[in-house]
Amino acid sequence: MHTFEFTRPKDSAGAIRAASQTKTTQQGAPGYARFVAGGTTLIDLMKLNVETPSQLIDINRLPLATIEGTPDGGLKIGATVRNSDLAHHPRVQRDYAVLSQALLSGASAQLRNMATTAGNLLQRTRCVYFRDTAIACNKREPGTGCPAITGFNRTLAILGTSESCIATNPSDMNVALAALEATVHVQGPKGARAVPIGEFHLLPGSTPQRETVLEPGDLITHVTLPPPIAGSKQLYLKLRDRASYEFALASAAVVLTIANGKVTRARVAMGGVGTKPWRSPEAESALVGQAADAASFRKAAEAALRNAKPQSENAFKVELAKRCLTHALQTAATS
Ligand SMILES: Cc1cc2nc3c(=O)[nH]c(=O)nc-3n(C[C@H](O)[C@H](O)[C@H](O)COP(=O)(O)OP(=O)(O)OC[C@H]3O[C@@H](n4cnc5c(N)ncnc54)[C@H](O)[C@@H]3O)c2cc1C
Ligand code: SF4
Repeated sequence: MHTFEFTRPKDSAGAIRAASQTKTTQQGAPGYARFVAGGTTLIDLMKLNVETPSQLIDINRLPLATIEGTPDGGLKIGATVRNSDLAHHPRVQRDYAVLSQALLSGASAQLRNMATTAGNLLQRTRCVYFRDTAIACNKREPGTGCPAITGFNRTLAILGTSESCIATNPSDMNVALAALEATVHVQGPKGARAVPIGEFHLLPGSTPQRETVLEPGDLITHVTLPPPIAGSKQLYLKLRDRASYEFALASAAVVLTIANGKVTRARVAMGGVGTKPWRSPEAESALVGQAADAASFRKAAEAALRNAKPQSENAFKVELAKRCLTHALQTAATS
């Protein structure tokens, strides 16, 4: 068991100061720090020796647990808001139903009571090799190789993969946030910045260990959602090996506006298939201006999966994801 320092700052500045004393967020490097929120990802990985921070900074006392309206009519969600509180918030249920549905499809009630907004944004892949320190893994130990490419890859990604890593981003919440065009707000040693969700997570490329644009010492303070689209139809559909307590094999978050039988606006994102939460501009442009019917929805799904690159065990995901998206669009349109 490795040892670590534990601090519990009272404000964001104290938390960032504590985290900034370290020079790196690289796993295994001497003196790397981690914030701990719900702990449902981090503590798991510490027990497996996958994460070995030398400093743990508890952010649960920071005043970051509120949900409030923004002056432009959108919503501000604090970093430590629990997934269950967010899913059941009346404004989320009324204006951002796709987010509520995505959160409630994830994990279990107990986990959702602990898990936080920022922790969910940063949850790590469930690739089995990543979680086993006896085996090589480029994400855990850069340069050691990716056994998943020739090994067990049934649950892994078919979009956004590289020769270095094919791991899936496992979050349901992130898929809904992508379709809702959320913004992630970060406070760091160099000040505050706002990052659109589409730019927050990185493709693996040749550096799969780097999963987001966060720098050492960066604290996520909150997430904002733009004002809701009046009359939009929203849905999150998740397909998995069993009905609950399981990660997505394929999922779809859709936000549609339909007028006179035609799609006038579409936002589409997919989960379970991408190395990051997968927004699909291809599906969106295939939908806009078209009849809101089964044929258009299938064409959009074909467009979304056009660049899919299946691995040895997960070719089934291509058709599964197409059917998932087609069904989500159909169900949303007729709701
Ligand atoms: C058995 C099981 C089943 C699950 N099933 C699902 C599922 O079906 N769908 C799904 O989407 N998820 C699922 N999850 C994952 C779960 O949603 C995540 O573990 C949870 O959202 C992480 O939130 P947390 O607050 O516990 O994060 P933590 O474990 O506290 O932190 C996770 C990471 O985020 C960092 N961090 C936390 N807060 C901040 C901050 N404010 N700023 C910067 N960094 C921060 C931490 O340093 C750490 O690296 C499952 C988890 C388990 C254990
Ligand atoms: S897919 Fe990524 S996480 Fe899984 S073994 Fe390969 S490098 Fe590691």
